[in-house]
Amino acid sequence: MSDTVPSPYRGRFAPSPTGRLHIGSLVAALGSWLLARHHGGEWLIRVEDLDPPREVAGAAERQLATLVAFGLTSDEPVVWQSARHDLYGDALARLLASGDAFECRCSRSDLAASGGIHRHCVASDPARAPAIRLRVPDGTVVAFDDGLQGMVEQHIDREVGDVVLRRADGFWAYQLAVVVDDADQAITDVVRGADLLDSTPRQILLQRTLGLPTPRHLHLPLIVDAHGNKLSKSMASLPIDDDAPLPALRVAWQALGQPATVLDGAPTVTAALRLAIREFQPDRLPKVTSMTFAAAHNNPAAGAV
Ligand code: GLU
Repeated sequence: MSDTVPSPYRGRFAPSPTGRLHIGSLVAALGSWLLARHHGGEWLIRVEDLDPPREVAGAAERQLATLVAFGLTSDEPVVWQSARHDLYGDALARLLASGDAFECRCSRSDLAASGGIHRHCVASDPARAPAIRLRVPDGTVVAFDDGLQGMVEQHIDREVGDVVLRRADGFWAYQLAVVVDDADQAITDVVRGADLLDSTPRQILLQRTLGLPTPRHLHLPLIVDAHGNKLSKSMASLPIDDDAPLPALRVAWQALGQPATVLDGAPTVTAALRLAIREFQPDRLPKVTSMTFAAAHNNPAAGAV
């Protein structure tokens, strides 16, 4: 990402309340916050609470309290997706009306033969509650230039298939909600973990189909465990301590490729963040999609995987 990004810059952090924030979430939150501040922009928090079966009671409030403890607060009132069903409904209605979306009664097992990729309806049970999918025309290829990872290209028809917008259980798919919200909140820069790199082309396709602007994207390295597995909020792996935030803040800072010494001697989170904004060098962000916790802690550049 260059320093020539036109203003206003609007970034966001959009956690799903499936558990406590861990060090990987903190890297994404701090990274998106630092990039927003570096560009003189705004930074918003959005609670992505659209998947009740996966959510943990009280997790959203707890995540917000953690972000406060780390000095990362939203410049505008926090947006809760669960209060925005009408927006998603309007977008879906438009896609259905234009013929870009369709009802689909295929089950997971119906699609097993095609590796879960939907190209044509092959439903075995016509009475099944329908999901709604975005029709992905044959030959749909979307490419984008990620601010950190470089060019990414996906053959969405072959690699993803027709994209679920509303699930058969009636819940909104993340892919639809995130696109509607990023546009509604006028987000110019999506900065998040590289686990969502694969989702970006289908989000861009959805933006184009809905006639919405496409923000710039930058995917930060994911912090993985020693076996290369993603840290999961639901497993509460490596939770961070709201009462003693400085050590985790330092780890997140180093995971972003920044020199540890910069934060030495900062007695408070406020002081550390002030130094962090002043000294942050986007060019040092590690151009990798994952790194182990140990590498993040010790030497991100050397330990990147
Ligand atoms: N809610 C998603 C998550 O917690 C992130 C969505 C996004 O940043 O686009 O993984």
